[in-house]
Amino acid sequence: MKKIDLNPLHPKNKILLYNRYVLSKLSWHLTITSISKTWISENLDSLFTQYVRKWLEVPISGTLSNIYLTSNKFGLNIIPPSTKFLQCQVTIRNALKSSPNESIIHLWKSTTNHTNIQYDQYSSTKEVIKSFRDDQVDKLTNQLTYQSSFFTSVSRFSLTQVNTIWPACQSKLPKNIFNFTIRYINNSLPTRRNLQRWGLSSSSECSFCINPESLLHVVAGCSSYLDRFTWRHDSILNFIANNLPSEHIQTIYADLSSFSNPSTITGDDYRPDLLILTKDNCLYILELTVGYETNLRNNVNRKYSKYKDMIMEQKKNYHAVNFINLSISALGVFDKESSGFIDMLEHFNLDKAHVYFVDVDVNEGKNVQKEFEDKFGEGMATFLECNVTDKNIFDSKAILAKYSY
Ligand SMILES: [Zn+2]
Repeated sequence: MKKIDLNPLHPKNKILLYNRYVLSKLSWHLTITSISKTWISENLDSLFTQYVRKWLEVPISGTLSNIYLTSNKFGLNIIPPSTKFLQCQVTIRNALKSSPNESIIHLWKSTTNHTNIQYDQYSSTKEVIKSFRDDQVDKLTNQLTYQSSFFTSVSRFSLTQVNTIWPACQSKLPKNIFNFTIRYINNSLPTRRNLQRWGLSSSSECSFCINPESLLHVVAGCSSYLDRFTWRHDSILNFIANNLPSEHIQTIYADLSSFSNPSTITGDDYRPDLLILTKDNCLYILELTVGYETNLRNNVNRKYSKYKDMIMEQKKNYHAVNFINLSISALGVFDKESSGFIDMLEHFNLDKAHVYFVDVDVNEGKNVQKEFEDKFGEGMATFLECNVTDKNIFDSKAILAKYSY
């Protein structure tokens, strides 16, 4: 860990080295040792958290529960040494217990003691990880209410099928912004309110107005930052408006200087962000809101009530009218209602995400396929069954052909 620490690497790569190298180096020792889990927790875990905090710049008051979660839950997919230890012990206990050799089974029985009996309750190493992550979710949901506002909002309202894009985007961020996102997620950034909680500031007041300076206030509340919020909103709108394919679209109206204004169609009372008139006479009305994670749903509801009459009115004029209530958070989480946006992209043949995956274990593969289909929709995942002798499937050209979409 010290060696990793001394290298001038991006924190995500330090974490990767820990995950891939340190844990696998340790696993043999953790398998054959008779040390208790308490010792591992007290000694190895504390060393591990000390480095991880340093690499990710998470202060002592910031929880690590978020980073232990899987990446589609905005975590970093890592586990502390004690969880690895538990996995190793489960592996060895299971190997003894299910051995075809009677004497080995006898060995399992005779070595059962008050320390290792707790490992026998797990039937697989996956169960160990699941139980560890469930504990973190429980902590975030029931204990760390202040630090879990991001997590609770995201688990209730986010469109899970696009959450999988997040880890890919996050890993491309430079070190300082990458660490910023980690601290954003567990609400440990030095806002005035946090500084006051930590006893480092006498007041929680915002530097620009009289409201308390919470993360919500900085990200989407303070009226002194209005021009930045507008810039953020318009940058996204600009990107969408400029990246729609022309073959299906007749006209784009956008509330941006380089486009015709939506009020041409909707009149001056309503001015949605984007109107897309397709060649088959469908009208897409897109309204974009960018706010803090806790407001994902409020923003959706607000926009619905604002535009519902206008949508009804427009239905008289077009073959179909679709309202795209696109509510995105500052960090890039999409509200469930944004599925209409994905449907629109599909209509324009823009979103053809499909998961192909390979597994040697057929049952496991089928389970994963079901998980993916629950997440992405039926027919959106393909399980390529593969035993190790089936070399064709690993032929890089075949994989490329199958995977190019
Ligand atoms: Zn303010």
